[in-house]
Amino acid sequence: MSEIFTGSFTQQEPIPEAAIDAAVAVMRHGRLHRYNVAEGEVGETTLLEEEFAAQMGVPYCLAVSSGGYALATALRAVGVTPGDSVLTNAFTLAPVPGAIAAVGARPVYVEVTEQLTLDLDDLAQKLRAPDAAKVLMLSHMRGHLCDMDRLMEICTAAGVTVIEDCAHTMGASWNGTPSGLHGAVGCYSCQTYKHVNSGEGGLLVTSDPQIAARAIMMSGSYMLYARHRAAPPPDVFEGIKYHMPNISGRMDNLRAAILRPQLADLDRQVSRWNDRYRRLEQGLRETPGLTVVERPEQEVYVGSSFQFLLLDWSAAGVEQVLERCAQRGVELKWFGGAEPVAFTSRYDSWRYADAPQMPATDRILAGVIDMRVPLTFSLEDCDQIARIIRAEVAAAYQSQGQLPLRD
Ligand SMILES: *Cc1c(COP(=O)(O)O)cnc(C)c1O
Repeated sequence: MSEIFTGSFTQQEPIPEAAIDAAVAVMRHGRLHRYNVAEGEVGETTLLEEEFAAQMGVPYCLAVSSGGYALATALRAVGVTPGDSVLTNAFTLAPVPGAIAAVGARPVYVEVTEQLTLDLDDLAQKLRAPDAAKVLMLSHMRGHLCDMDRLMEICTAAGVTVIEDCAHTMGASWNGTPSGLHGAVGCYSCQTYKHVNSGEGGLLVTSDPQIAARAIMMSGSYMLYARHRAAPPPDVFEGIKYHMPNISGRMDNLRAAILRPQLADLDRQVSRWNDRYRRLEQGLRETPGLTVVERPEQEVYVGSSFQFLLLDWSAAGVEQVLERCAQRGVELKWFGGAEPVAFTSRYDSWRYADAPQMPATDRILAGVIDMRVPLTFSLEDCDQIARIIRAEVAAAYQSQGQLPLRD
């Protein structure tokens, strides 16, 4: 009998007791709206922003209703208007091109590499075009960071503003700089499958007082912005307060209460994720036909999900691996299927935006396999999952008699 994994790939850990207590306290007093505070009280949302800004080492932070909302707000705050082009990864999650479309702009996709990161040569080439976009929404998809030093060099030289999608890089860094602080704005998600969990929620950080003030006004601060603590001084708002549309997307005190204890515990969670990631990596290295994505030494990552490549396999070969693994309880996500399943991550699934064929990305999408790594998995679970994948990849590889080439 071959072993079967019985854990759940979608089961996160429970909310910590301290967060539950804080949430209950908010419900008992009833002041859930962030600006609904008693005399002298500083609300949970305001405290969350203050603490996250300090944790990240930035002056400004805004808590909002989702990661996707943070992204769209960042675009508006840096001055993107309808009809503009915005560069972004061809392999990312639907809320990223969705945020670009939400502001009436047009995504222009950049190829991705075997490291699952933005292809910087393709970016540099696209920026040489006379009508090149002036904003890059860089998605650190599945937590993989590109060479951020080179990226910023390219973008700075071209006068391109960078917005970072840090949905999977909260707690990560490149060359000592936290992810989200390289560009003009960093956007994080607090949705259940990310690194802190309030169901839904987002955080935006920036060191630019104008961007911060615009984002705060747009999120729905009315004229209550002086209650923020990770915000620029009131005079910065003077010039803009009558010009920013209110596009309500505030966070509430209940979610903020749930998040504060989790953020305080982020470093410990990151190391637990990485312990699990390394066990999977160890177990899958040197599996014939399977490519492990090697992580650069400048990158501190958060292993909350795991990717590997079945590069240049046929669709039938990949399907066989997925099928065999599923039968043994290992739920893998493939981005290369003819029809998108569950969440969508490929540029040709978003047909509201025209996109040329992207051959390099197509090759990656055809072979990239993804797996969530919830912290409810033990290290032994990870060893077992790796053993199962290794065995089933080997079996599929052999049953094809030879390298199962792409058809
Ligand atoms: C989850 C995610 C988002 C957006 O997060 P929501 O909070 O669900 O809106 C953006 N980009 C990537 C890559 C994500 O994984």
